Amino acid sequence: MSRRRVAVVGAGIGGLTAAVALHRCGWEVTVYERAAEPAVGAGIVLAPNALRAFDSLGFDVERATGSAVPAAMGVRRPDGGWLNRADTGALAARYGSPPLAVHRAALTDGLAQELPAGTVRYGTAVSEVRDAGGAPLVRADDGERRVDAVIAADGINSPLRRRYFPEHPGLHYSGETAWRAVVSADGLPVLAASETWGRGERFGIVPLADGRVYVYATAFAAPGTRPADVPAELARRFGRWHDPVPALLERLDPATLLQHDLYDLAERLPRLHDGRIAWIGDAAHAMTPNLGQGGCQAIEDAVVLAHLLDRSEGDRIPQALAAYSAARRDRTDAIRLRARRAGRVAGLRHPLAAAARDLAVRVTPARVAFRALDDLYDGFALPA
Ligand SMILES: Cc1cc2nc3c(=O)[nH]c(=O)nc-3n(C[C@H](O)[C@H](O)[C@H](O)COP(=O)(O)OP(=O)(O)OC[C@H]3O[C@@H](n4cnc5c(N)ncnc54)[C@H](O)[C@@H]3O)c2cc1C
Repeated sequence: MSRRRVAVVGAGIGGLTAAVALHRCGWEVTVYERAAEPAVGAGIVLAPNALRAFDSLGFDVERATGSAVPAAMGVRRPDGGWLNRADTGALAARYGSPPLAVHRAALTDGLAQELPAGTVRYGTAVSEVRDAGGAPLVRADDGERRVDAVIAADGINSPLRRRYFPEHPGLHYSGETAWRAVVSADGLPVLAASETWGRGERFGIVPLADGRVYVYATAFAAPGTRPADVPAELARRFGRWHDPVPALLERLDPATLLQHDLYDLAERLPRLHDGRIAWIGDAAHAMTPNLGQGGCQAIEDAVVLAHLLDRSEGDRIPQALAAYSAARRDRTDAIRLRARRAGRVAGLRHPLAAAARDLAVRVTPARVAFRALDDLYDGFALPA
């Protein structure tokens, strides 16, 4: 029997996870990536739900990436006081594993290494996917290929989403922009992961395994605003915040600083599939990073999709993709909306509103805070 063929459009976290999952199920996989080489990126936190999805795939993130477990995670005030803090042991006890912090490049490299050489075609954009007698025909920079299924993992600006859902209103701007970088933690006592909330500004610190630290910052800005001197802008905004923020800011290298305006999908998609094409990750349900779930949901999507495709016979692929859509659409949309609400709270600008927020976070008992995470962290399951 000939092997079933799948084209994956996009070699981000979602596309590579789907590629690994389907390769392990015996599919012949081709990943098209328009960028000439793998993205470097900054850090990412993988929550327990994503780690469980990786487990079900037999992908050992810690071994593949050398990821780090922060000693604790919590929210701070600009003066350094903690509004809440969870010991990662307590998170592990409740969810089976604590969140892991990894460098994005380590994660995507680790996934790519699970694939046969030549599976990922960098510098190869897909320009069209069309139906050719019941099977999708993929047109890319390196020619045309007929496949059994297409996975659109082409990111937040997904050209395939725009083409197949022309009525969809597209993206919604959160009002905030984000900067990210990875710097050396040498000599700095960075053991816990924290996000510090000011008024309309946030600063995150996440220790990585290799003596480096992933830092990020957010602020309100008109879309497309790009300060001429980003380190100076960040020093102006955050330079008087608690230690080690000022020291970390001094270590920023403008050449490796990333800036992205934060968008999510304005509305949910009517479905996450069309015939033999399925959308996953940001292409399907882009969300703001306020819950740290965009990449985690892309991983969940990929694993669920491969699980359903693995069990489908040749002519039942459209049904498997419809089942994927039914299994994933409500969960991912609820998280998209929750992330949008979380951003509104964390980004409050009025002093009284921010003070009330801080008080509410400080007095919320740990068991209540944990319960609010249960849906996210315990919510991954493979469909029966
Ligand atoms: C500031 C910030 C912090 C975040 N922190 C976290 C976090 O801690 N935890 C978490 O889980 N998530 C986090 N996220 C979200 C996470 O980064 C995304 O949800 C995730 O990277 C989406 O992965 P993806 O594979 O769907 O898309 P992408 O990573 O965007 O990959 C899409 C790929 O498709 C390629 N492509 C597009 N069009 C074509 C084409 N026509 N042909 C070929 N290739 C194409 C692109 O070049 C790209 O490489 C964060 C996001 C931001 C902005």
